[in-house]
This record gives sequence, C-alpha cells and structure tokens, in this order.
Amino acid sequence: MNLHEYQSKRIFGQHGIPVPSGEVAGSAEEAYQAARALGGTSVIKAQVLTGGRGKAGGVKVAKTPGEAEALAAQILGMNIRGLTVKQVLVDPAADIRHEIYLGVVLDRASERLVMIASAAGGMDIEEVARTAPEKIQRIVIDPALGLPDFQARALAFGIGIDRGLRREFTHIARALYHVAMTHDVTLAEINPLAIVGDGKLLALDGKIVLDDNALFRHPELAALRDQSAEDKSELEARKHGLSYVKLDGKIGCMVNGAGLAMATMDVIHYFGGSPANFLDIGGGAQADKVAAALRIILSDANVNAVLFNIFGGITRCDEVAKGIVAALGQVNTPVPMVVRLVGTNEAEGRAILANAQMETAKTLSEAAQKAVELSERGSQNRREKRN
Ligand code: GDP
Ligand code: MN
Repeated sequence: MNLHEYQSKRIFGQHGIPVPSGEVAGSAEEAYQAARALGGTSVIKAQVLTGGRGKAGGVKVAKTPGEAEALAAQILGMNIRGLTVKQVLVDPAADIRHEIYLGVVLDRASERLVMIASAAGGMDIEEVARTAPEKIQRIVIDPALGLPDFQARALAFGIGIDRGLRREFTHIARALYHVAMTHDVTLAEINPLAIVGDGKLLALDGKIVLDDNALFRHPELAALRDQSAEDKSELEARKHGLSYVKLDGKIGCMVNGAGLAMATMDVIHYFGGSPANFLDIGGGAQADKVAAALRIILSDANVNAVLFNIFGGITRCDEVAKGIVAALGQVNTPVPMVVRLVGTNEAEGRAILANAQMETAKTLSEAAQKAVELSERGSQNRREKRN
C-alpha cells in the first residue's frame, strides 16, 4: 500500500525529520487559503500515487495566493500517468541549493533493510543506478544493531556531504530507518532531501510503501488507504479476501491457488487465448465468495468467456458449484462459461452444474480450449453485430 506524499511527510515530521509545514487542499479555494496562511512563495504539488509528478507538470511554484489558486485549479483534475489529481499539497517553497536522495528499501535477497543514498537526488534513483551507479551508496542494516552512527556517517561521507551537515544528515538517516522499521515498510524514501538556502536539510518529497502483509499490525496506517485512487474491482476483491489482478485479455479466470491460477493463464495462452485477469479465490472458498469473484470478473466489459479451474482439496467442489450457480442467479449474464472441477466431492459438484446446464470439462487443456473457442466466438459475434 502506497501513502501519499503529504501522509509520508507527516510521518517523517513526527519522527524528527525536518519537513515543510504544508497543508492539503481539495479545491482551488482551499489552496488559496493555505497559501495565504503560509505567506510568501508556495509550491503546489499534485497528490497522486506515482512519481515523476514534477516532470508531468504536477509541481508548480506560486508567488502569491492568487497564483496558488490558479495553479491548483490547473493541477486538480489533471491526469498523471493514468491517475486523476484530487488533492494538492501547498508547501512553503524552499530555496533549493542541492538535492540528495535518501531511501530505505527492503532487500529480499539479503533479508535486510538497505539504506541508499546519492548526491544525485531529485531524479529517479533507477535512472541514476543505470547511468551513474558509482554515485549510489548502499549499506545493509543489521536489524540487531540498527543503524549505528558510524554507518550513517560513512554514508554521509560517501556522498560528499559537507562537514557542517553531517550531524544533521546522520540524525535524518537514523530517523528514516526508525520510520522504516516501526512502520513495516518496503520503501521509505526522501527524494529530494534538499540542502536549502539557510544551509539546512529539508525533506521536500516523501514516499512510503507499506508492506500489505504487515498492515494488520498498523490499523492507523491501514486507515490512510486512499480508496478513490485504487482500482474498484481490486478493492472489492480485497474486501472478499480474493487476490485479483485485472489484465487486458478476454477470458475471465476463476481459480483456487496462485500457482494453479498462473498455470491456467499459461494454458490459455498456449491455446491462443488471452486471460482477462489473475484470480485466486483461495482455499476453502464458500459459495458467497465464489459469487463475489464471479461478479468481479464479469464487471470487466472485455470478458467474453469465463474459465473455472478448481482443484478441490480444502475447497469442496460441490461448494464451488453451488457458488457458481448462486452467482449466475444473481448476475444473469450472457457470457459463456466452462468449468473444470476435480478433487473433493467432484461428482456432487458436476451434478449440480449439469442440473444448471453448465458446460464442464475433464482436463485443464480441454477446458482451456473450450474457453478459447467460446471467447473467439464471442469476439466474432461482436464484430458481426457491429457490421
Ligand atoms: P516528484 O517529481 O513526483 O518526485 O515530486 P517532487 O516532490 O520530488 O518534486 C519534483 C521537483 O520539484 C523536485 O526535485 C524539486 O526540484 C522541485 N521542487 C519541489 N519542491 C520545491 C520547492 O519547495 N521549491 C522549489 N524551488 N522546487 C521544488
Ligand atoms: Mn521526488
């Protein structure tokens, strides 16, 4: 889960990292008020869950409250990398002398948090890594020791921070590590950490990515989730405990188990079809969960066939079959479906489906072939209707 810049900076500020004292605004009028309260020059910043806002025109400097209002009107509603701007952050403008990159990232290979710093801040760190890898300093942090002063100082030295700023940099690095550790992040990043006019360090941008698997430990962070910025179907899926990822193909897939879901997608590809989604209904799926999954799959207008591939173990085939029939009763769709059920209570499941006149298949390849046929027929029908 991603936090917005303003949320991330608020957390940084609470942990002793110097941040600008900005306000969030949802309208141009609010931006005017915020800029007036700040006095002086301000920066209007699009709050969307993506980087590169500066380049996309989502970060602008305003000299007066009137200008802040006009710029906010321009930025609100703007589309940045497919996301609509609904809020702007109004920060006091900083007099930037130099931009540093400082981040903590979870490195799965070393199973440690790694701190990354670079004197080439402001731009994408991936870009720096590609073009000037020697400008990046990394230290692997031992969780038993935390980030000792000497390590943070070595980092400061490595990126050529002036003597006079080293103590402050060390303080910020340790605070950032503390935030990363206590919030279960996969990324906590300040880019840029600016050296400003009065010779101080200031975190001008903030980004926190929380580990979804640890969110249950942080209800106050989970509550920050910006649902309006997320895909509706994925949101709905999460509510029902389903793992769902929308893709751009035409065959909806309902599968139990992530590995089986991937195998199913491969087999669909093998027979020339294209999967519309990844969906894992998990183990022990009950009828209502299956119904919810089917509704989510069918809410995608691209879907013109659905393939069920259920391997009954903990999940009982008759439960799934009941779920499918119940869901069909609720959604009443013309989209053709084929079901492959094997495992626990297979015969009972098949009987339920046969009663409901559903098409079934014995093997995955047979099921996938049928689904591809149905999907192609669906596309053809659509073309004929248009002609
Ligand atoms: P990003 O493009 O999404 O990473 O957004 P940032 O918050 O990092 O802003 C992009 C760039 O805008 C920064 O690298 C700065 O160069 C510039 N910027 C951000 N805040 C200020 C500010 O207060 N004053 C000035 N002059 N420039 C700023
Ligand atoms: Mn940035």
